[in-house]
Amino acid sequence: MKIEKDFSLKHHNTFGIDAQADWFVTYDSVDDLRILVRDEYFQECRYLHIGEGSNLLFLANFHGIVLRSGITGIEVLRESAEEIELRVGAGMIWDDFVAYCTEHGYYGVENLSLIPGQVGSSAIQNIGAYGVEVERFITSVHTLHRRSGQERCFSRGECAYAYRHSTFKEAEQADYIVTHVDFRLSKVEHLALDYADLKRYFAEHDTKPTLTSVRQAVIEIRQRKLPDTQILGNAGSYFMNPIVPAQVADRLRQAYPQMPVYPLEDGRVKLAAGWLIDQCGLKGYRMGRAGVYEHQALVLVNHGGATGQEIATLAEYVQQAVLERFAVEVYPEVKYIS
Ligand SMILES: Cc1cc2nc3c(=O)[nH]c(=O)nc-3n(C[C@H](O)[C@H](O)[C@H](O)COP(=O)(O)OP(=O)(O)OC[C@H]3O[C@@H](n4cnc5c(N)ncnc54)[C@H](O)[C@@H]3O)c2cc1C
Repeated sequence: MKIEKDFSLKHHNTFGIDAQADWFVTYDSVDDLRILVRDEYFQECRYLHIGEGSNLLFLANFHGIVLRSGITGIEVLRESAEEIELRVGAGMIWDDFVAYCTEHGYYGVENLSLIPGQVGSSAIQNIGAYGVEVERFITSVHTLHRRSGQERCFSRGECAYAYRHSTFKEAEQADYIVTHVDFRLSKVEHLALDYADLKRYFAEHDTKPTLTSVRQAVIEIRQRKLPDTQILGNAGSYFMNPIVPAQVADRLRQAYPQMPVYPLEDGRVKLAAGWLIDQCGLKGYRMGRAGVYEHQALVLVNHGGATGQEIATLAEYVQQAVLERFAVEVYPEVKYIS
């Protein structure tokens, strides 16, 4: 366990916001965590658990303890000719886990290649990309309660997964610290190639879709579309795609026939937030040191030295523009920390 005081979080959030934490604690095992939760000062302090900070926006310095998992490692729980179940440490880098699965011939998570963050956060956020959401492969999530110190294993059903949502995002579950995540993956070829970008990639390239080539395709597409966080601070998609009643989507489609729509099973319709923002003429828009990425309107960027508050002010401006033009509300996917 490592405990640091007055710690800059600049390299622990992908926006590169230079906020300070009073304390920064990295732990490497469940035993470390048990020691921490028995500590009176830890119990009294305000606390925030982070992963790689790729979905966070620090609006101010954090007065309290910032906690980060260093629990890594992959354990095989069960294996048959068709499937394998793995237990993975929450502190493992998500893309290292995807690379491991690809190397070992385990199908499922390859479409989620290169998503920043840790394995623990993947289960909290229900990360998704290129037609796949991680919840499909999660069997259980292991946690330790920050106050009672009790361990609890959540079944997939108990995680209440939905679009970019799980029970862990709800206020009453905020004290659960994720220590490990169990995944079930296929050893039999099973690729998800329905997403338009992937179809296009394999139509244009003389490559057969395989586990390895799909991972490679996703990496190439992502690197083309998204800014490198090391160069231009950002948190990927800043806003969630709004989900609206079918009547609202129909009304908008009459006015904007080219508007992309994604009908959902429950009858509602998902709209593309990036398209709505782009139509407001905001792609490449700058407000001081904060900006809308010039190649993808869904991404807000730090052009250098922006504060979290500056990014949040730009986000409000974008939300207002979309509301005025389409009467649709877009909400941040990014979590604000004040
Ligand atoms: C360039 C870029 C591209 C992206 N692309 C995608 C994409 O395609 N799809 C997608 O879904 N997301 C995407 N994201 C968003 C982000 O990568 C995911 O939300 C990711 O899962 C966040 O992981 P993290 O470790 O950085 O979590 P953080 O941002 O540090 O934290 C996220 C949340 O998890 C909590 N948390 C973290 N670890 C634990 C733990 N062990 N126990 C309890 N709580 C914990 C935090 O308190 C916070 O609420 C992208 C981000 C960037 C910067």
